[in-house]
Amino acid sequence: MTAQRIVELTEVTKIYEGKVMHRALNRLDFEAEEGEFVAIMGPSGSGKTTLLNLISTIDLPTYGKLVVNGIEPEVLSQNELALFRRHNFGFVFQDINLLHMLTVEENIVLPLTLDGLPLHEMERRVKKISAQLHLKEILNRRPDELSGGQAQRTAIGRALIHQPKMILADEPTGNLDSKSAKDVLELLSHVNETERTTIIMVTHDPIAASYCDRVLFIKDGEFFNEIYKDERRQTFFQRILNVLSLLGGNVHDLRTL
Ligand code: ADP
Ligand code: MG
Repeated sequence: MTAQRIVELTEVTKIYEGKVMHRALNRLDFEAEEGEFVAIMGPSGSGKTTLLNLISTIDLPTYGKLVVNGIEPEVLSQNELALFRRHNFGFVFQDINLLHMLTVEENIVLPLTLDGLPLHEMERRVKKISAQLHLKEILNRRPDELSGGQAQRTAIGRALIHQPKMILADEPTGNLDSKSAKDVLELLSHVNETERTTIIMVTHDPIAASYCDRVLFIKDGEFFNEIYKDERRQTFFQRILNVLSLLGGNVHDLRTL
């Protein structure tokens, strides 16, 4: 079986217009296969979030071609795009963004209420996801009663509940201690392996990147390097560190654990 290409950027350039024009991405080629777990690394300001915003169709390329799950976003209307995003993507961010008046369970199920799914189907999915995410015991808690890791797992539950084809994560472990970060990464790996959900994750953390199948490095909005995992996570981690040392940039971004 050949893997389906789910994301394809061809010579994509993104220019932000403003008082000063800024070329955030420059003629970037990038593709991801369905079921891949890809990390994107690069110094601060290198265009990582811009790339995720293009893939998620929140923003459009200035030049070049972008195809996401068979669709060129520029041909869709705003409403079609909103629907396309809801069906295709789950988002996970560094700032966790749960609704504080709602319980863990209500936060997770929120996206489904928008789709008007029957109650029994919502309950079935919450049950499955909360078991997967080890949240069963805390479904009735509110966000201010959660640890950082529990809150991020809840946010991942919310991103997964509508069974998206793709998870887009921007520094999902950026605010977590190393134990919680490990939990979240193992969880993402598990979802990637069992559901074949494609995951594209921006990270500054070489340990986080070592959980992925492949790491794309960008610098100044351009392709810098790309490496694939090998059998051992430790050697992959070492190779990631090697590329990061060549990449230079803002050393404060390269957290050591
Ligand atoms: P990263 O996520 O790698 O830190 P970004 O994609 O956020 O980088 O930003 C890339 C460059 O584009 C930066 O120089 C940033 O200042 C600039 N930039 C990002 N968003 C905007 C915007 N909305 N308007 C103008 N410039 C922007
Ligand atoms: Mg960013």
